[in-house]
Parts: sequence; structure tokens; C-alpha cells
Amino acid sequence: MKLAINGGGKTRTTPFPAYNTIGKEEEDAVLRVLRSGKLSTYLGTWHDDFYGGDEVRALEREWAEYSGSKHAISVNSATSGLYCAVGAAGISLGDEVIVSPYTMSASATAALVYGAVPVFADIEEEYYCLDPKSIESKITNRTKAIIVVDIFGQPYDADAINAIAKKHNLIVIEDTAQAPGAKYKDRFAGTLGDIGIFSLNYHKHIHSGEGGVIVTDNDNLADRLRLIRNHAEAVLDARGYKDKNELINMIGFNYRMTEIEAAIAREQLKRLNSLLKPRLENAKYLNEKLSQIPCIKPTKIRKNTTHAFYVHPLIFDQNIAGVERNTFINAVKAELPRTLLRDDSDVLMGCGYVKPLYLQPLYQERIAFGKDGFPFNQSNVKYDKGLCPITESMYFEKLFTNEFIRPPMTKKDLDDVVKAFEKVWENRKKLLTK
Ligand SMILES: *Cc1c(COP(=O)(O)O)cnc(C)c1O
Repeated sequence: MKLAINGGGKTRTTPFPAYNTIGKEEEDAVLRVLRSGKLSTYLGTWHDDFYGGDEVRALEREWAEYSGSKHAISVNSATSGLYCAVGAAGISLGDEVIVSPYTMSASATAALVYGAVPVFADIEEEYYCLDPKSIESKITNRTKAIIVVDIFGQPYDADAINAIAKKHNLIVIEDTAQAPGAKYKDRFAGTLGDIGIFSLNYHKHIHSGEGGVIVTDNDNLADRLRLIRNHAEAVLDARGYKDKNELINMIGFNYRMTEIEAAIAREQLKRLNSLLKPRLENAKYLNEKLSQIPCIKPTKIRKNTTHAFYVHPLIFDQNIAGVERNTFINAVKAELPRTLLRDDSDVLMGCGYVKPLYLQPLYQERIAFGKDGFPFNQSNVKYDKGLCPITESMYFEKLFTNEFIRPPMTKKDLDDVVKAFEKVWENRKKLLTK
């Protein structure tokens, strides 16, 4: 059979169904807010409305209850949430924050915004989260925090990393943008460290267009997070503060969520479990089917955890295949149709996830703020190629991801994906290797 990439027919041409989580309930919620005329009632002054309107507060109550956290604080994105978290933690000039290089860029830039530098530790070969051993090797007397990422939906190694943090008196900030509803033992991802951050952007499990929620059990951190969200500096006089230490990092922003977003997010939270269930079943099914192809290794799930499968990562073995990953995956993509509601040509597979963050120009050229390269000019931290070999091997050679696992994809749809992989496997010798 001729491969589609070589001019043959595709395995499937009918587009895959769209992942659309928005329904009647969200529509009603938006109309309720619109008709009230109160699209946001936040005030950046010391007033009851400093903490936002009815929908924002209801979302925060419901999210806290759902996650089992004492406090939930809504923001306008997970990026804002990460920035708030680093600010609330008191991170400052000269500090080092240990972070994964295999994540969305904001997990690391959060440190830079407060004049600290990210120190990249390597990831685990099996689960792609920060490796506790690598973290330990990166700790110095400047280290103040670890930003862990529940990457692809897999909770980080909380017992091991929390123990390291405790030993060295470090704050753990958990970026759980990709793992809502995932569990570590009996606790939800996001509640495993000192501060957890969820995302509600369009590409995540549930969304409000844009948005984020921060959770913490710590009253003092919660207070500081709420201040940074909403013009802290403008209210501290009227609100009062005990000593100068309470003013550290109290330049606030406008990271406020609107009432419409909060109303949508409340409905989305109710849907999370029913959206996760078919996703997990699909991931299990595809994992089993694809790992029967000799050059593909299945995703492993950490003991005592449940995964949320934001995307479904798999490992490609180019030695067994005799062709490079990108060549093989591009051939599979050519066999498959786009998915509705996504970009016109989008076949929901990708190679390597993201380039290790330290290879971005920001770190290679050591320029963030101003012409003198602040804050890198305060530090000797290195960002050379080769820094995190496991991350680099995942990006350059081994790992690929797909989003075919999203409902309403059925087993029949997934069987077409499997057929495309099998066709390319059987005809791999016809692929031109570079
Ligand atoms: C999506 C994502 C973010 C950023 O979320 P926004 O809400 O878009 O700011 C941060 N970290 C990770 C790991 C993400 O996947």
C-alpha cells in the first residue's frame, strides 16, 4: 500500500470530532451575567469589592471545595497565577528557583519577573516530571523554591520532592495547568505543594476562554496572592500592614478574572469528571494498541497516581524503526484527517513537545530586562546545550504526543489512528530517511 506521504490514499479523510466543552449551561451562565450588567465588580481600593463579584467568589468557593484546599483564588490566566505565586513566596533578586525545562515557558519566566533566575533540573525518563535526584544536585544557598510541573497530566513525585523541599526550607509551587482532576494518593494534583496553579485557557481540559485558579492552604500566602492579583500597593495603606517585610513584592497587577469567565468556569468545573473519564479510557485504549507496534513504547503512570492525560505522550525507538521519529510521525500525520474546531490542517500529533526552555534565545543570550541582561547578570547559572540530557533526548529523538484521546473520540476513531500507525510501520522502508 502506498503511503499518503508518498502520494497514496489516506487511511481516513473524514475529520475527527471536535472537543467542545461548552453547552447550554455555559450559555445560560453567560446570559445571567450579561443581563445583570455586572461584568466585573472588582475595585482596586480597600473595599469589599477588592475581592471581586458574586461569580468570582462563587467560583473560588466551589473550586476550594472541589480540590480540598483552604483557599482558591481566581486569576485571568495560569501565567498570572505563576507570577502571583513567585511574588507571594517572597522570591527576589539573586534567588534561584529550580524548574523543569520541559514545560510551557511561563513556568520558568515567573522567576525572572521577580529578578530571580531559573535553574533547570532534568526530568524523569519515565514520567517526564522533575527528577528528585537532579533537583538535589542543583540546590545552592541561593535556592528558594521549586516549581514542579504535572506535565501532560502526570502528578510530580510529591513524596520525594516535598521531602527535599522540607529539608532545604524551599517553597514548592505546583504548575498543574495540565493535570486538573489528576490524583496523587488521595489528593488532587495542585494541592500537593505549597501553592498550586490551574489553567482555564481554551486548550486545557476545561476552560473559560482564558483564566486560572490558584490554590493554597496557607493563610498568609493566600492573602499575599490576593493582594498581588489586584493592585496591592494601592490598598496597603488603608488595609494596614504590621511590618516592612509585609511590603516585599507588594507591587500588584490587574490579574482579575471577569464575572463572565467565572460564571463559565463554574459550569466547566461541574463537567470536569465527566470529561476526564472518557479521556482516560481513550488514553488507556490507544496506549495498549499503539504499544503493540514494536518501535513504540507506552506511557507509564506513576504508582499511586491517576493521570489526567492533557496530551498522550509516547516514546519512539528509532533503532527499532530504522527511521527517525519525525519522519515516521509525519508519515502517520499524512494518513489522518484534521480535527474539527481546530486549525484547518491540524492533525493532533506533535514531535518532542517543547524545546528545552534553556535553549530559547532568552537564556542563550541571557537577556531579559534592559540592555545589561538583568537578572542573568546577577548569576553564574549556566544554560548550555547538554544541560539536561534526558529532556534533550525526549525533545530531539524520542517523545511524541497526540490529543486524539479527547472525547468525543470513540474507539472506532482511535482504531483509524492505530491503522495509520500500522500502515506506516509496515511500509517504513519506503520512507526516505534523511
Ligand atoms: C497552559 C499552561 C500554562 C499557562 O496557562 P495560561 O492559562 O495560558 O497562562 C502554564 N503551564 C503549563 C504547564 C501549561 O500547560
